[in-house]
Amino acid sequence: MTPEEFRRYGHIVVDRIADYRASAGAMPVMSRVKPGEIRAQLPAAPPVEPEPFDEILADLDRVIMPGLSHWQHPSFFGYFPSNGELSAVLGDFLSTGFGVLGLSWQSSPALTELEEVSTDWMRQMMGLDPAWQGVIQDTASTSTLIALVSARERTTRMSAARGGLQAEPTACIVYTTAQAHSSVEKAALLAGFGRDHVRIVAHDTAHAMDPGSLVAIMAADASEGLRPCAVVATTGTTASTAVDPLAAVVAAAKAHDSWVHVDAAMAGSAMILPECRWMWDGIEGADSLVVNVHKWLGVPFDCSLYYVRDPHHLVNVMSTNPSYLQNAADTDVRNLRDWGLALGRRFRALKLWMLIREQGVSRLQDRLRRDLSNARALAGIIGATPDWRVVAPVPLQTLCVLHEPPGLDGAALDDHTRRWVDRINESGAAYLTPAILDERWMARISIGALNTEWSDVERLWTTMQRAVAAVGTQP
Ligand SMILES: *Cc1c(COP(=O)(O)O)cnc(C)c1O
Repeated sequence: MTPEEFRRYGHIVVDRIADYRASAGAMPVMSRVKPGEIRAQLPAAPPVEPEPFDEILADLDRVIMPGLSHWQHPSFFGYFPSNGELSAVLGDFLSTGFGVLGLSWQSSPALTELEEVSTDWMRQMMGLDPAWQGVIQDTASTSTLIALVSARERTTRMSAARGGLQAEPTACIVYTTAQAHSSVEKAALLAGFGRDHVRIVAHDTAHAMDPGSLVAIMAADASEGLRPCAVVATTGTTASTAVDPLAAVVAAAKAHDSWVHVDAAMAGSAMILPECRWMWDGIEGADSLVVNVHKWLGVPFDCSLYYVRDPHHLVNVMSTNPSYLQNAADTDVRNLRDWGLALGRRFRALKLWMLIREQGVSRLQDRLRRDLSNARALAGIIGATPDWRVVAPVPLQTLCVLHEPPGLDGAALDDHTRRWVDRINESGAAYLTPAILDERWMARISIGALNTEWSDVERLWTTMQRAVAAVGTQP
């Protein structure tokens, strides 16, 4: 494609996206296609001859669009908000259009330095002290893997440079709760700890880690000669946005010189609001933390901020260049390949920088406050309605909800929940994620798409009441 053709089709594509965003509310939220339906419409083999771009765009409309579930829809209440503010979308376009890569500082100096500046802006916005230094990873899963590898290497005094975990005399242990994201267990397994060395610490009725249980399990492990190595605490768990008590977790971990990694993938964005910062009181005692600005904050996926207090250690663990080991964090320039897994790096900082500048901190704060207030208001209404119950605290924008008609419990109640949630999702009117909390199915309502206003939340409540009436209570 020539630059002139790109100009023509680029305008068409931008118009498409603008129209899509303006009209997203008119489409069914959840895609209605059946498994395999999209694939069946696509040729199995690639075209040998060039195809006109107009035809490709026509197929986008005909084949691809029906297979999208609309995350930017104002009635999207599924999973978590993965907002793509349009200013940041333009930053993503520019990053792709420039096609530059960060392999080293020299390979595109602005890529590295804007990443330093924009992650530091976010640090300030979240009220963190200047000791934290940030880098952009693709996802929280990667960030947590890096954290656990860093913890392993600190506890074992850089075992990777010798025989690795395989040559260690005693096992290193990782602690987390059953409410932690699945990426924590995955990271522990990939980092070589092994499932037998992942302890599930008890949680309280609000689904937050019980620090007393953490203290006891760590002490028991230590007394058996095992090495408590890392605690992964969560600020804003996936199911119910529960908040682990960081100050107590840090105190428990410090007693064993254990690493503390804070998974604030979802809730980290809320820390731009001073009134939310009690949720990670104690954070300054942690060693690493991850915040996905590609969730609620509004940077299009992917953009996961990983912060550490000891960048020296990170670089020592992640660098494979021995001649480079001694002073990598001391020199004037950063080589971000030594701050993560991948050698190559996209210019992700552009979209974050454009979002923060175009919105300003105040507009970002206003939107998050709108969502928090909508969540609290809906929780109030649901909690005051007979047969309905909000089953977990609502510190943020996620509600866990049950409709409990008299006489229904156990598996019958689970069936009922699945039926009314499926009915809403299949209708296309809104999208909720059914999830399991305390071994019971519940409806999880995550508020916070860019265009979700109170009127959309009110309409969801009407839709929910109609859905339970329509499915009835007969199994
Ligand atoms: C979303 C989420 C993750 C996983 O994020 P990815 O970036 O998709 O890997 C991990 N932990 C928490 C608490 C999350 O909300």
